[in-house]
Amino acid sequence: MKSWAELDREYIWHPFTQMQEWQGSEPLVIERAEGNYLIDAEGRRYLDGVSSLWVNVHGHRKREIDEAVTRQLGQVAHSTLLGLANTASIELAGKLVAVAPEGLSKVFYSDSGSTAVEVALKIAFQYWRNRGYEHKTLFATLSQAYHGDTIGSVSLGGIDVFHAIFQPLLFQTISIPTPFPYHYPSLSPEECRDRSLDHFRAVAEDRAHQIAALIVEPLVQGAAGMIIHPPGFLKGLEKICRDHDILLICDEVATGFGRTGRMFACQHEDVRPDMMALAKGLTGGYLPLAATLATDEIYRAFLGEHKDLRTFFHGHSYTGNALACAAACASLDLFEAEHVLERSQEKIGLLAELLAAEIQPLPHVGDVRQCGFMVGIELMENVSLRKSYPMDLRMGARVTQTVRRHGVILRPLGDVVVLMPPLSITPDEMRTLISATARSIKETCGE
Ligand SMILES: *Cc1c(COP(=O)(O)O)cnc(C)c1O
Repeated sequence: MKSWAELDREYIWHPFTQMQEWQGSEPLVIERAEGNYLIDAEGRRYLDGVSSLWVNVHGHRKREIDEAVTRQLGQVAHSTLLGLANTASIELAGKLVAVAPEGLSKVFYSDSGSTAVEVALKIAFQYWRNRGYEHKTLFATLSQAYHGDTIGSVSLGGIDVFHAIFQPLLFQTISIPTPFPYHYPSLSPEECRDRSLDHFRAVAEDRAHQIAALIVEPLVQGAAGMIIHPPGFLKGLEKICRDHDILLICDEVATGFGRTGRMFACQHEDVRPDMMALAKGLTGGYLPLAATLATDEIYRAFLGEHKDLRTFFHGHSYTGNALACAAACASLDLFEAEHVLERSQEKIGLLAELLAAEIQPLPHVGDVRQCGFMVGIELMENVSLRKSYPMDLRMGARVTQTVRRHGVILRPLGDVVVLMPPLSITPDEMRTLISATARSIKETCGE
């Protein structure tokens, strides 16, 4: 009989993976999980240090979510939202509107972060058409943005390794330099922020009549390597959008559901986007579900007679899936019942202390960036000369291979080691996560 690993290599094409390398490796095959641990087919346990790629919130096999999905299975697994309503999606929409930033009052469902972004950009485009502004067709984005892997969301992205090859298929965007002080060591974070805002303001003054929307990952650009914006940046962007009639779309796919210490990142700066894209943590990490929230003003621009063709002609087969909505409702209920956000604050503080004590002093660690539970640790060949490792050494990947031997699962972004534990991580598990990471960096990069 063939092993799971052999069967995997025979049949599966993995995402974001060089399969030639995979074919020569021994894949770790997960069979089950318990709380914040994943368990492989041999029964070995691993701390889920990146929340199963940024999706898990309350841990695995969380009783309340398990029960909600099981209960929903006893009712119905799925029925369509095209021409029909269903109870689970109605219940969830009400709960989302209740926790969302003020003004977001309508919920459009889809299945992934990429589709949530596609929906937002198509709504923004059609919104201006429906209102008679034919020329507002362009999107402004931040450099090094990541908004997903479908062609529309790739058009909004700016990460060359992922996106450059598809250039001929993409639409043009207006790129605003992201305020990343690390790119400009001579500037303070505030100067960096103001430079980026000045750039966007100048673009807006010049071309607002052509710009449908600005889309941003609020506070943290995750896939870019956990780039954290200086305080006041998001608020500044919001003001420029308001002054120039540009819609503001916040992509909270990664930052949403407590990952930054608030329910949504834009709430740190009391920003009220016109649309918000949600996915990853929406179901607590259980099932694929996404939502695009919009204001009433946007929604009303789509109203009319059928013949007016103001309808938003977009929808997916599994839109509003009842099982996924039931999981999401249970996850949101847990935020309240277990005071998850309040209890997160101490954990975030502990994480900061451990990073400062055990990770930052390591000789091959450059910048250590943290926003809530989102952490990026930059590996460098020579920190004082700010010299990166040659790309083909793949130090990030090597560290995350090593850390498995210490019972932790991580996934890097280039030479940035990412930590993004579930909100349910305990203080002891947090200490394990940091000490295993520190050990692995020392073993891989040298002391
Ligand atoms: C992950 C991510 C997406 C894409 O979500 P998928 O569910 O993988 O399609 C979009 N935007 C941001 C900010 C993300 O982190």
